[in-house]
Amino acid sequence: MNLNPFFLLSFLTFLFSGILNASPTNNNGIDVLNYHVFLEPDLNKKEVKGCVLIKFKADRKNDKVIFDSGNLKVTNFKGKGVKGFEQKENKVFISLDKNTANEYEVELFYEGKPEKGIVFLSSPQQIYTVYYTSEWMICNTSPDDRASLKIDLLVPNQFRAIASGNLINKQTQGDNKTLYSWNQDYETPTYTYGFAMGSFHEYKDQYHDISLNYYSHKHTSQELELIFKNTEDMLSFFELKSGVQYPQGSYTQLIMGNHYQEMSGFAVLKESYGELVLTDSSEANLISHELAHQWWGNMVTCKSWNHFWLNEGFATFMSAAYNEHRFGRKKYQENIDAYFNVYDKIRKKGADKPLVFPDWTNPTKDDRNLVYFKGAYVLHLLRKELGDEPFWKGIKFFTQKFYEKSVTTEDFQYAMEKSSKRDLKAFFNIWIY
Ligand SMILES: [Zn+2]
Repeated sequence: MNLNPFFLLSFLTFLFSGILNASPTNNNGIDVLNYHVFLEPDLNKKEVKGCVLIKFKADRKNDKVIFDSGNLKVTNFKGKGVKGFEQKENKVFISLDKNTANEYEVELFYEGKPEKGIVFLSSPQQIYTVYYTSEWMICNTSPDDRASLKIDLLVPNQFRAIASGNLINKQTQGDNKTLYSWNQDYETPTYTYGFAMGSFHEYKDQYHDISLNYYSHKHTSQELELIFKNTEDMLSFFELKSGVQYPQGSYTQLIMGNHYQEMSGFAVLKESYGELVLTDSSEANLISHELAHQWWGNMVTCKSWNHFWLNEGFATFMSAAYNEHRFGRKKYQENIDAYFNVYDKIRKKGADKPLVFPDWTNPTKDDRNLVYFKGAYVLHLLRKELGDEPFWKGIKFFTQKFYEKSVTTEDFQYAMEKSSKRDLKAFFNIWIY
């Protein structure tokens, strides 16, 4: 089956329904260094209970810092260099003791029934997180604030659990639960944090030192092997194009639920997608799209959602670029044509907008399609403009220079101009600004 715009539109709807109401930056004057979260999900009540220890720096001029708390209620509070807290309108305001050093610690105990951000499935019983981290862990949701992470998760013994970071410990607690601990020692934005649990079939593979794990309740181990057979080749392709090695000790792909969501170190792919890949083995776009986010999105992140195309236009373009490498130029061109057609429809009805949005508080469906498909198409045009070798050299320079950083479109333009020694002002003005 060829990739067509209709399919692209429908996959997009599932892909990023989560970003629709992303909250604006609240990164003023705060830099979180590390989160250590303990969480106990109740799969029957669809509730969570936990605590998070947040280590952060704050500007000397600030009396307070603000964290996002979704639908969670803070029940207790401790800390160093902090005086008290107030909770209102899905936020926690922490007042700072300014006589202490500018590094602070706050431990927040909380419970709640998430309205979004976690999907609880009943049959079979499974859960996974989707984008809204502040619904299960109080945190700063700005994509500009990157932090390292430790997750402790209390899991019923019959389930297997996966989370961001490297698994560092697994310990039985009482008769029927196991405490899993993961550590991610490098920084990513909080929307990339996540976990999943359920009972799954499993297939394990290896790419250099990286363990590859594929899970599904529905598909057998042999089917999982087939569905994800290109993963090693994709890792090698993205490492080559980015000039940066995959950062974690493992990459896990789970087929479950009704979303496509990248997280740090793993991805959730919609239940029906496995069947599609088994029917047509060239249908690899979503696997490569989510994997591409491990570089573009998770490690080189848009500084604010106004520059969201740097995450999604990139991942969408990279899935076409992978198809070119794996299946040939025809497949790449089919993808690019499909992206263009989505964009062209929006343009023809007068809904075209610059890729850098003045405001991403309430994006429409067209706005999101522009970010994904106009974004990918414009990267294709830039490739044509510069030629293959300078384009890929620029992509590598951009990725290496801004790795583990949050970036704006100006940073991307700077990297491409510096690398190609070309003035790209006109191109960026026409196609991006
Ligand atoms: Zn994406």
